[in-house]
Amino acid sequence: MNKNDIISLTITSMTAQGSGVGKTADSMVVFVPFTAIGDILEVRILKVKKSYAYGKIEKIITPSKSRIEADCPAFGKCGGCVYRHINYNSEKEIKHQRVVDAIERVGGLKGVKINKVVSNDRQNRYRNKAQLPCRNTENGVEFGFYASHSHRIIPCGDCLLQPESFKTVMDITKEFMQKTAQTAYDEKTGKGKLRHLYIRYAEMTGELMVCYVVNGNGLKREDELIAELKKNLPELKSVIFNSNRENTNVITGLKNRTAYGSDHITDILCGKKFKLSPLSFYQVNRAQAEKLYTIAKNYADLKGGEVLLDLYCGTGTIGLTMAEGCRELIGVEIIEDAVKDAEVNAEINGVKNARFICSTAESAAKRLKDEGVKPDVIVVDPPRKGLESGVIETITEMNPEKVVYISCDPETLARDLKLFDEKNYSVKELTPVDLFSRTAHVETVCLISREIPRQ
Ligand code: SAH
Repeated sequence: MNKNDIISLTITSMTAQGSGVGKTADSMVVFVPFTAIGDILEVRILKVKKSYAYGKIEKIITPSKSRIEADCPAFGKCGGCVYRHINYNSEKEIKHQRVVDAIERVGGLKGVKINKVVSNDRQNRYRNKAQLPCRNTENGVEFGFYASHSHRIIPCGDCLLQPESFKTVMDITKEFMQKTAQTAYDEKTGKGKLRHLYIRYAEMTGELMVCYVVNGNGLKREDELIAELKKNLPELKSVIFNSNRENTNVITGLKNRTAYGSDHITDILCGKKFKLSPLSFYQVNRAQAEKLYTIAKNYADLKGGEVLLDLYCGTGTIGLTMAEGCRELIGVEIIEDAVKDAEVNAEINGVKNARFICSTAESAAKRLKDEGVKPDVIVVDPPRKGLESGVIETITEMNPEKVVYISCDPETLARDLKLFDEKNYSVKELTPVDLFSRTAHVETVCLISREIPRQ
């Protein structure tokens, strides 16, 4: 096989990243993005490796039955959605299969109960947060998304995953930058002011936060920008300027200045109020997060007397929605602002049996164990890279009855479940929840139980 060859190929499966996979007669695996299972294609080969190759669609000979018309001009370019060209049922089947494959192949676990993917009622406009990089163009400052694996900015216009108000913020800002002759930050030269536009929306209260990440302290004539935002967006609750002067990939700096309104917004999740500061984590799909946390709560099945440890707790959301059902809640989180928010969240919700520790999960778990704390249930919700193996060891040494593992990466989840399995904790059940429709991401909640119940 050589570059530029045209081959015929049937797509039979999907990778974890959402690229179609087919096999040639001589067992060469070919990856073709933006295809659908069942597509019969003519494929142009772009890159050849020893046992696999990458290609792109030259012609669709017979389209898959799951295909639909993609409805976004940036689809295939922007690095966000990978499943706008197939129907939602097919998307959910692919996501289910990804979890099954991870558990069986990466985790080596057989016979585990894996439930159907919990549907997202809104497959568009479900996101409550956007971090939009910007660039200078002939027509002024333009906002967009990074293309996949790149820092090339693809203009996004009205992104269908975001609330419409985000587009209004982009338009107002673009016009303001032009009017005041200010420019976007350029990664290569280090010049220019505006780095990112970061927007958050609390859908239950309707509050909107606009955060400008700037190379400096702020923008010239900020007041005019704020006045324009206020005029067009009555739901505006907070305008923040975040300073980031470093030449780095990290989006936000550590310093925030409130230029208008409040330094936070408040949302409601599972009937509880949550304070959201610019830097603290909050699930981007609130409505689906409620379903996720409800399943997690059912898995935890608290009876009232338990000690609950919530590791990677963010602003305390998961633990606080369960706190009424247990004796004591201990949350652990690495970001200081999130811990402060968690403390406020406990207070505004009248939760008196909670305390929060600002630390890495690794060292907090060890310390708690050494202090003799014996949690009955441990909830973990780590970032994509999953748990450090030391955390799994400490958790199992603490001997909880149950571990509820919430994961945004089925492959690292499967790797970690294997380690739990080796420590006499068996995986009882998994439920994938579709938090990120149209993208390749899959969220999963999993119940792990001690094999021999505690005496
Ligand atoms: N459970 C929360 C947050 C989950 S996101 C919720 O559902 O809203 C993961 C969280 O883990 C983030 O808040 C992140 O800041 C935190 N985190 C990342 N690495 C960590 C570590 N090593 N120890 C503790 N917390 C960590």
